[in-house]
Amino acid sequence: MMPLVNEYSIGLDLGGTNLRAAAIDRSGAILEKTSGSTQFSAGRQAVMEEMVSSISGLRAKLGAAGLAGIGIGVPGFIVFKEGVIRNSNNLPFLENFPIRQELQQRLGSFVILENDANAAALGEKWMGAGREVDDLVLLTLGTGIGGGIIAGGRVVRGHNGMAGELGHIVTVPNGNPCGCGSQGCVEKHASATAVTAMARLMQLGENLSSKEVHDLAHEKSQRGAKAREIWRVMGESLGCTLAMLINTFNFPLYLLSGGMLPAWDLFGPPMMQAVERQSATYRLTKDTTRIEQATLGNEAGLYGAAYLPWIEDRPATA
Ligand SMILES: [Zn+2]
Repeated sequence: MMPLVNEYSIGLDLGGTNLRAAAIDRSGAILEKTSGSTQFSAGRQAVMEEMVSSISGLRAKLGAAGLAGIGIGVPGFIVFKEGVIRNSNNLPFLENFPIRQELQQRLGSFVILENDANAAALGEKWMGAGREVDDLVLLTLGTGIGGGIIAGGRVVRGHNGMAGELGHIVTVPNGNPCGCGSQGCVEKHASATAVTAMARLMQLGENLSSKEVHDLAHEKSQRGAKAREIWRVMGESLGCTLAMLINTFNFPLYLLSGGMLPAWDLFGPPMMQAVERQSATYRLTKDTTRIEQATLGNEAGLYGAAYLPWIEDRPATA
């Protein structure tokens, strides 16, 4: 028998500096939205409290009977089955804490914990640029670079949940050191942070945003030429990453998201040249392999988190 309630799920995105949550129905319509006010610097108890109150608030408005489950997107390396963050630069105070179990107990609802970029990739597959395909890769270009892989409509997690850490693909052997312990990771050469750092090293300014470096690159001056060089290096590093991904997966769609996308006019051409040069698979499948901009922006993670309860099995402990 069909239930007589309107079913919905709740997606929560714990990215950046605070949290956002939304109640979304099975068709992808956002029914209610909320954002938290607690700064992450307030620590674990405060953030857990904020998650519980955001979710309870949405559930109270829409009715507990219709709630299919809760998906939470968090930055960091996740142990999916345990619902635990093993390592996170953004949320160190949540590391090795049983987040999923704690939330399930306090809320009495089915909870799934997912990496934020995986959730964003799933969101793009459900309601964004990837709606027409079952297989895609998303790279989120921010202060770091996140990655999510969707195959057969599902998140590829590996055996722990740590697959898709694509920001740590090495594109420059012996390149810039990375917090992960490696050197030359693409996020050290093609993230917003990397663009700002390159601008500083090239004496264009101490703390330029990627937008400022983009604007500068359109100037016909010595400084403009330096800024264009930054975007060339950034594009080549990204292109190298995409070439490896295309060679690995032969998927039809590779999406880029994040605040640097407006600079595509500058990094796009060197990126595509690198893809052409480094991926035979791309050259042979050019007419059916697309590299495009994601379309959901900040909302992708919310959509993906909310979609998880519809497609994932309930763990035995739930
Ligand atoms: Zn790294």
